[in-house]
Amino acid sequence: MNNWIGRTGQSWKLWVALFMAILACISFSLLTRINSLYISYLAMVFSLGAFIAFVTIRCPFCKKSVSWFYMKNRLFNNWFQSFFRISNCPICSRKI
Ligand SMILES: [Zn+2]
Repeated sequence: MNNWIGRTGQSWKLWVALFMAILACISFSLLTRINSLYISYLAMVFSLGAFIAFVTIRCPFCKKSVSWFYMKNRLFNNWFQSFFRISNCPICSRKI
């Protein structure tokens, strides 16, 4: 990935988050058919895992979570797109 996330070597966290989110969706859809406590635990674990993997995308300089900053401070409908276009850290402004 040739963006800030890729240059900081954290693309794998996005892939883990995406994979966990897909597994969470599958688990939640299974819950509509099978009422199982085990599957509901799995759905929660995958959802939490996706969230944690995404939130741990950090700036290598200031060590703050850039993804969390974007979720907190941007408009809901465009934060995700603008997150992929960043060229420097929105918190400390350092560039890679
Ligand atoms: Zn920073």
